[in-house]
Amino acid sequence: MAIRITDVRAIATAPQGINLLVVKVETNQPGLYGLGCATFAYRHLAVQCVVEQYLKPLLVGRDAEAIEELWQLMHQNAYWRNGPIENNAISGVDMALWDLKGKLAGMPLYQLFGGAVRAGVPVYRHAEGRDLAELVDSIAHWRAQGVQHIRCQSGGYGGGGFGPAPARAAEGAPEGIYLEPRAYVRDTVALFDALRSQVGFEVELVHDVHERLPPADALRLAQQLEPYALFFLEDAVPLEQGDWLRRLRAQTSTPLAQGELFNHPLEWRTLIAERLIDFIRVHPSQLGGITPTRKLQLFAEQYGVRTAWHGPGDQSPVGHAANIHMDLAARNFGIQEWSGTEPPNFVIQELRGSGNALLDVFPGLPECRGGHVYPSGRPGLGVDLDEAEAARYPCSAGVTTWTQTRLLDGSLALP
Ligand code: MG
Repeated sequence: MAIRITDVRAIATAPQGINLLVVKVETNQPGLYGLGCATFAYRHLAVQCVVEQYLKPLLVGRDAEAIEELWQLMHQNAYWRNGPIENNAISGVDMALWDLKGKLAGMPLYQLFGGAVRAGVPVYRHAEGRDLAELVDSIAHWRAQGVQHIRCQSGGYGGGGFGPAPARAAEGAPEGIYLEPRAYVRDTVALFDALRSQVGFEVELVHDVHERLPPADALRLAQQLEPYALFFLEDAVPLEQGDWLRRLRAQTSTPLAQGELFNHPLEWRTLIAERLIDFIRVHPSQLGGITPTRKLQLFAEQYGVRTAWHGPGDQSPVGHAANIHMDLAARNFGIQEWSGTEPPNFVIQELRGSGNALLDVFPGLPECRGGHVYPSGRPGLGVDLDEAEAARYPCSAGVTTWTQTRLLDGSLALP
């Protein structure tokens, strides 16, 4: 009997104060459903609308096992394609269909990708401090747990919190997060110089520019960081300035990781084919789910470019699990960002139940032990969703402030 799709719902929940969106695809087989990540935290209502108003009518009654056919059907159905809202909506369905496929096979999803080529998935964790001493403490905390790759940031991504313009800004400059790119380059080089002298070279360090520099300054930063042997420099140039990577590549030996904002195959094809980056770093739901991300991974393998999938707090545990299953089976795996089951430090955790609201809503979330993450071992993605728990943490659709980054003259800069 064919397995038919009977319902498609997009469930919004914010157990850590961050909007998460998970798609549940139900079938005509009792109890058989799949879950997928459709999280676009800052436009979740728009994605929810696409899933429930447009994709559900398109999909109900169709063969739930025909993943490739349904991905293409969704992708071309609106004619205009490759946008973040549409891609995240498609991802929710796509990952849910892969989850279903694994449940049907009775296997964890990585088995369907060819089986595990590694025992655990090495991750990098995020260390942050207001000054060097705090950062060194944070690095020591992770190393004590066995973490070998650590991303080091001081003062966020080169700016403080959202608030009034500093006194030295232009008169009348609006509220924002104020960036000073030249000072950020100087401070970051001094920071890594001090870090290496304190923690040595036995730990791998990563740094994220988060697109916040003009390309010429990004090049200078990459050059000046060479003595400190970074594992990679993340998103050194903005999405729209990918051509600059050719110049960075020619002029610095610092390894480059790029792509957490990528939407479209043309954004990465040349970067990989010409080996202009060392690590391809995309947000899988932003690409449209597991189907296009696996194609990208296999394409990158041919060129010796390694993976470093985005794994931030504004991604659901279902999305994290998808990353881990792809990582386990990828020959060209590089590293996995892991934001953990701990709440981000800017959110007050509600202590109850398991002591972690995220785990109450998403039982089966992959576990991080030491410096490695392991899947739950259950069929499919292995993560479930407790809808009653999820309903206890409603999302909000307020104005996003962390993306309102500005320069001292008051003009907007990329976040
Ligand atoms: Mg990043």
